[in-house]
Amino acid sequence: MRFEIVTIFPGFFAGIFENGILRRALTEGLVEVGVHDLRNFTHDRHRSVDDRPFGGGEGMVLKPEPLAEALASLGIEPKSNSQPDQATDLSDAEELDSEASKCQGTTLVVPQSQQKEEGALAPEAKRPTVILLSAQGRPFTQAVARELAALDRVILLCGRYEGVDERINQLYCDMELSIGDYVLSGGELAAAVVLDATMRLIPGVLGNESSGEFESFGVADAEITTDAEGVPRSQYGAGGLLDYPHYTRPAEFLGLNAPEVLLNGDHQQIRRWRREQQLRKTLLNRPDLLEHACLSNEDCKLLESIRQGIQ
Ligand code: SAH
Repeated sequence: MRFEIVTIFPGFFAGIFENGILRRALTEGLVEVGVHDLRNFTHDRHRSVDDRPFGGGEGMVLKPEPLAEALASLGIEPKSNSQPDQATDLSDAEELDSEASKCQGTTLVVPQSQQKEEGALAPEAKRPTVILLSAQGRPFTQAVARELAALDRVILLCGRYEGVDERINQLYCDMELSIGDYVLSGGELAAAVVLDATMRLIPGVLGNESSGEFESFGVADAEITTDAEGVPRSQYGAGGLLDYPHYTRPAEFLGLNAPEVLLNGDHQQIRRWRREQQLRKTLLNRPDLLEHACLSNEDCKLLESIRQGIQ
């Protein structure tokens, strides 16, 4: 999978690819990232990317022309149907687009040994999905990350100032994504969040293939199959709930003991305890998630007793 990031601050991304899972994914060639400096697509002496808003008001707006040029350099032309369409199904991005093989002005963050030649994207590359990071966007969730992780190429446009000229959204973007109900000073942090959460769901990126399913917001229980013993894995998977708490050595720390049940090696008991913890934490911190979680009869009983214990 390949991400392209268009930004006025390419240096922002320098550090985030140097550590942990993201670094490994890049080194192993599971993920590629191109960071594109928007100012390379300006033609005036000041390399201006912004201008005053029509109609007056505070701040500046990112001009459309440099963004359009940056997108053209990535093989993206305006959509034929240029109505804004937030509800775009990601599968719309499946159209073939031979233009996608042109990729210029790219500052690759991929380590030297992994870099392909310019324009060396697979010839069968599908039309990339263009995403505008925006506080007004569809909320970015683990489910959206799963959808994105199935795509070949995603372009992330980072806004700044008061935002981006709306015609860029109308003409080029498949969706606007927001990382939360607050306003950031730029789309770079949001792009980094989307990239990180998405790339770790790409097969092979996490050491344990299935671990993404078993974290907070893991896939719905019904989608999780049974394990080798025939026990429904959802009994100990996240299944739409928050994760259970984790402990490691030492068994006693500053007077607090790790829960006894985790030390006794009884896997059924451990499983039950973890499920109860998941339900408890979800009830306390994110009761909204319970509405969509697929709960067994045993879960419902546990939940009821937790509720009574809390009151
Ligand atoms: N005037 C805009 C905020 C602009 S903030 C508004 O009120 O909605 C500048 C840029 O930061 C935006 O263009 C967007 O790219 C990014 N940004 C700000 N908040 C964001 C959020 N919650 N999620 C994603 N991107 C965000």
